Amino acid sequence: MELPFEPYRIKMVEKIQRVSREERVRHLIDAGYNVFKVPSEAIYVDLLTDSGTSAMSDHQWAAMLTGDEAYACSKSFADFKNTIQDIFGYKHVIPVHQGRAAEGLLFSVAVPKDSVVPNNIHFDTTRANVEHVGAIALDCVADAGLDPMLEAPFKGDMSLEKLALAFEKYGTERIPFVMLTITNNSGGGQPVSMANAREVSAFCKKMGVPLIFDACRFAENAWFIQQREEGFANMDIKEICRTMFALGDGCTMSAKKDALVNIGGFLCLNDDEMAMNATNLGILREGFPTYGGLAGRDLAAIAQGLREVMDPDYLAYRIGQVARLGNRLTELGVPFLRPTGGHAVYLDARKALPHIPQEEFPAQVFTAAMYLEGGVRGVEIGSLMFDHLDPDTGEMVHPAMELVRLAIPRRVYTHTQLDYVADVCARVMEMGDRLRGLEIVWQPPALRHFTAKLQPVGGGKMVARA
Ligand SMILES: *Cc1c(COP(=O)(O)O)cnc(C)c1O
Repeated sequence: MELPFEPYRIKMVEKIQRVSREERVRHLIDAGYNVFKVPSEAIYVDLLTDSGTSAMSDHQWAAMLTGDEAYACSKSFADFKNTIQDIFGYKHVIPVHQGRAAEGLLFSVAVPKDSVVPNNIHFDTTRANVEHVGAIALDCVADAGLDPMLEAPFKGDMSLEKLALAFEKYGTERIPFVMLTITNNSGGGQPVSMANAREVSAFCKKMGVPLIFDACRFAENAWFIQQREEGFANMDIKEICRTMFALGDGCTMSAKKDALVNIGGFLCLNDDEMAMNATNLGILREGFPTYGGLAGRDLAAIAQGLREVMDPDYLAYRIGQVARLGNRLTELGVPFLRPTGGHAVYLDARKALPHIPQEEFPAQVFTAAMYLEGGVRGVEIGSLMFDHLDPDTGEMVHPAMELVRLAIPRRVYTHTQLDYVADVCARVMEMGDRLRGLEIVWQPPALRHFTAKLQPVGGGKMVARA
């Protein structure tokens, strides 16, 4: 197999260590079998998220040292704005401290109560921000994006039929704009094709509503278009990005993803009035419009990160590394959703641990066992996160899938470390029915997966003796 070649060498390192199995057992018990509460220095390979976990380059660190901390109209802001306009092409650029702040500003000024915002699939914070203003967040991803085993090139595409139905059902006056998330994070980091974006854009124009991109992983999406979509093999990444963004009227962006920094974000809009209202609200919530909750050095690092992320060598390595982890897992017989996306692999815990019923949190058991076995941290996306009571029947509803997401930080881990992760997954599979289910001993009223405490069902150890 061709190795995705790292287009960098390492100039600064951070020590990590594997704590002993005894210590891992203690940490796991102290954390109530919830890896969110394990201290990060006791974690060997941390795949909890790709958000804000990137390694910055020498040029980004240099930009931080020369960042301009002027309160107003700093030269770092000018660099930030010019770089963003060069790629995204939108008229107004509003800096914010992270992606959800951009969502908060946009939805506060442009989404009235009882309106409806369609998206391929809303990311959790996007959905929460839409619902916070009293509107409905509607997912319209094409059916292919909902089939976990289907190998298809653009499973992030939006269904034009579902979108048209939404306009019919709710009426155009209730839909302030349509969103398109590239890549589709909640659908497995799957890309959206240019053809689909064009269709969605044409439809929005016909209906007279703006199209707003959730652009967090725009460069990864562009790479998939270049590799997989007819007619784009010879177009460079920046040109693909510009072509894509020209189809819309603005974007929200978390710089913690494809701007290769640890904090930051922005909102772009073409509409003058909407931008003015968002800017004015931003002054209350984020700060003066040329820093928006960020230091001048953060703006400088984002500008540099945006220039670096479109490097085709970087993207081939980045997405190649995720695909390579998928190939290793296939060789070892560990089941996961297909194909691998741009930023993560999603393990299928129901297939991996068929003896554990959904009431006993198989994906959480797999996640806890990965930590126990190898100090690896992933995140449960299953019944611990999504179980809820049916409002009509009062019965417990489990999600369709029990997944463990392994999100790969950018430029952080080596191929060897990810091979190790694959081996740890295989060892958890081998533990098989020696692994016991978990039960909740304490949970908060909302978003329980972050802080719930669990224990092996009925007490005792999670791994039964062989
Ligand atoms: C991370 C993310 C957000 C929110 O960004 P934050 O910086 O975490 O607030 C919004 N949409 C998508 C698709 C994301 O991945």
